[in-house]
Amino acid sequence: MKYKEWEALGSKTSLLGYGGMRFPIRKDKKIARRASKALIDRAYKNGVNYFDTGYGYHGGDSEVFFGEALSRYPRESYYMADKLPSWHVKELADVDKLLEEQFRRTGMDYFDFYLVHAMNNTYFEKFEELGVFPRLRQLQKEGKFRRLGFSFHDTPEVLEKIVDKWKPDFVQIQLNYLDWKLIDAKKMYEILETRDIPVVIMEPVRGGRLQNLPKIFSDKLQAVTDGSNAAVAFRWVAQLKNVICILSGMSDTEQVDDNLATFDQLKPLTADELRVTEEITDRLMEQGAVPCTACNYCDVCPKQIEIPKIFAAFNEYKISNDREAYKNSYNDIAEGHREKDCVACGKCVKMCPQMINIPDILAYIAARRA
Ligand code: SF4
Ligand code: SF4
Repeated sequence: MKYKEWEALGSKTSLLGYGGMRFPIRKDKKIARRASKALIDRAYKNGVNYFDTGYGYHGGDSEVFFGEALSRYPRESYYMADKLPSWHVKELADVDKLLEEQFRRTGMDYFDFYLVHAMNNTYFEKFEELGVFPRLRQLQKEGKFRRLGFSFHDTPEVLEKIVDKWKPDFVQIQLNYLDWKLIDAKKMYEILETRDIPVVIMEPVRGGRLQNLPKIFSDKLQAVTDGSNAAVAFRWVAQLKNVICILSGMSDTEQVDDNLATFDQLKPLTADELRVTEEITDRLMEQGAVPCTACNYCDVCPKQIEIPKIFAAFNEYKISNDREAYKNSYNDIAEGHREKDCVACGKCVKMCPQMINIPDILAYIAARRA
């Protein structure tokens, strides 16, 4: 396992981190405990020491599960990262209440990394008014957590404004070879690197999309690499100097083993691998793919529209142009939960970190699906 030591943070994190939002689940949607603990054990025993959760992951069960799974290991042997759910902060007192609830859920009495979740301009303005960040610095001084940062979903200009005001210890951004251009993650990373702020990476494989590439791209990449498509995506991100941890939401043993192998023998990308990733990025952008990461934050839909599944099928079609496969994908989506069933209530839009205009795109897809 590769580690990244960062003096200012006093940390030595494994470059591969375990993201806790995509564990295998049971029929009742709770985390499948035995299978998930086996995944955590496999990762931990092979050197992963950074575990990332959030208040809302798996409906709150991710925090509880991590508490159970990691209580079997010495507390100082791993880093636990948790996040303040920004959308639940209505007044300053909520910050303390939510943090206490997170301690109760996890059974821990401090976090190693604490992040304000999903920062954007709206939350920034609200939190400036409430005094959220100074309160968090105070809680940090009291030992509730050791390092304070935020995860981020907005434009580079907003990122620059927030880091210059708050001066966080670290920042978590969405970055992968596609988003480098698609959402200008390049500029965001550069803003952080020039200020020497350490960076945690989320969505390095873009919700699995850079692993499950359309066949035409997968074939091209496989012709020039000897690992998985995901391995190329991880190695691409790992080359960036200020990256201290790359999160992977590992859901099965195969993914854990593939990721461990990648980070055990971390190799720089070859010129051919780089060339193909650039080609894939340019083609995906030309085709106007929907920038959905399958994070499922939009799972608030009263009609239970299968939003990420619909977008994934649409993106696949844009690339492959395979009309027959696209038609078949429609049958995989349960009746009553398809794009045409959206009532445009807008509830999902507020939750989407990618700021996708979901009902408009669903309507666009519905009009062309017929
Ligand atoms: S806008 Fe459509 S997809 Fe979004 S929550 Fe409402 S019904 Fe569901
Ligand atoms: S539409 Fe937005 S919120 Fe829903 S899964 Fe995709 S990226 Fe996540």
